Amino acid sequence: MLSLSPTTTPKPSGLFYFTVPSTIPLHPKTLKTPTKRTHRPFSGTPRTLLQYNRKPQLSGETPRVVVITSGKGGVGKTTTTANVGLSLARLGFSVVAIDADVGLRNLDLLLGLENRVNYTVIEVLNGDCRLDQALVRDKRWSNFELLCISKPRSKLPIGFGGKALVWLVDALKARQEGSPDFILIDCPAGIDAGFITAITPANEAVLVTTPDITSLRDADRVTGLLECDGIRDIKMIVNRVRTDMIKGEDMMSVLDVQEMLGLALLGVIPEDSEVIRSTNRGYPLVLNKPPTLAGLAFEQAAWRLVEQDSMKAVMVEEEPKKRGFFSFFGR
Ligand code: ADP
Ligand code: MG
Repeated sequence: MLSLSPTTTPKPSGLFYFTVPSTIPLHPKTLKTPTKRTHRPFSGTPRTLLQYNRKPQLSGETPRVVVITSGKGGVGKTTTTANVGLSLARLGFSVVAIDADVGLRNLDLLLGLENRVNYTVIEVLNGDCRLDQALVRDKRWSNFELLCISKPRSKLPIGFGGKALVWLVDALKARQEGSPDFILIDCPAGIDAGFITAITPANEAVLVTTPDITSLRDADRVTGLLECDGIRDIKMIVNRVRTDMIKGEDMMSVLDVQEMLGLALLGVIPEDSEVIRSTNRGYPLVLNKPPTLAGLAFEQAAWRLVEQDSMKAVMVEEEPKKRGFFSFFGR
C-alpha cells in the first residue's frame, strides 16, 4: 500500500537540519511575545526513525480525534488536514476529515471533492438526510471520507456549537461499519466561537505554525487555550520553512520555534510551490508521483501522528561569527 518502500531505514535528510548560530538570544528585548514556555519541557528523543518497510503501529485509543489548528489564518491548516488525512488513509487507516471552517470552507476544494458535497452536517442535524449521505467518500482512497459542516457562505443555526460536534463524533463512532481510526477536524482561524466549537470534541491537537513572529504569537495563545480545554497532547507542524532563509538568518530556525512554543515536533514542511499547484488542482501533494519534499514531509508527519511519536530539530552547524537571527529585527 505504501508508495515508498526503501528497505533500509532512511537517514534524516538535510530537511531536518537547520543552521542555528549558538549565540542566538532566544529572548531578545526587541521581541516581547511569544513567551518561551518552560513549564512544558520538550522531552525527548524521537522513539523511532521512520521505516518504510513496515506499517506504523497505531497508538492510543481510537477514534483519535485530532483538531488541526493555528490561530493565524493562511498558515497551512487545511493543507495539513488534506495531506496528513490522505497519508493516513494510504497507510491503511480509516479517516473522517471534518471541515469545521464554516464560513470559509475549502477542504473540499483541496481534495477535489467540491462537486460531490450534496449534504452537510446542518442537513443531518435538521433531519433532512442521514449521516452517511453527508459523508463524501474519496474515490482514490475509499477509507477517507470528508464531512462538511455547512454550505459555503451559509450561516450556522443559533445554538450550533461544541455539543453538536461532540454528537457528530459520537455518531461517527457508532456507525455500522465501525468507528474510524482518525477523525481530523480542520479548525477555522481565530479563537472565537468557531475555534471553541472545533476543539470541543478533540483529545489531541496538531498546531500548525510558520516560522514568523505573528504566527508564533497566535500559536502560543492557542496552545494556552487548548490546554485550558484539557487538550494535553499538542504537537506542532512548522510549515513553509526555507532553509536558504534560515541560513541567511532571515527566518527563524525550527529549533527556535520549538524553544519558544515548547511543543513536540510532529513535522517540518518546506516551502514548496508544488503545494500551491496541488491546491489548485484539487489533488493533494502526497498523491504526487514522484513525491516532492513537502509531500514526503507530510507523509512522515502522518506516520509520527499514528505512532504518537515526534521528531527533533537538530543543530548541526554553528556559525558563531555570524550575526544572530534577531539582528534581523534591528539589534
Ligand atoms: P489555512 O487553512 O491555515 O488558512 P491553507 O492550508 O489554506 O491555510 O494554506 C494557505 C495557502 O498557503 C494556500 O494557498 C496553500 O497552498 C499555501 N501553502 C500552505 N503550505 C505551503 C507550503 N508548504 N509551501 C507553499 N505554499 C503553501
Ligand atoms: Mg483553512
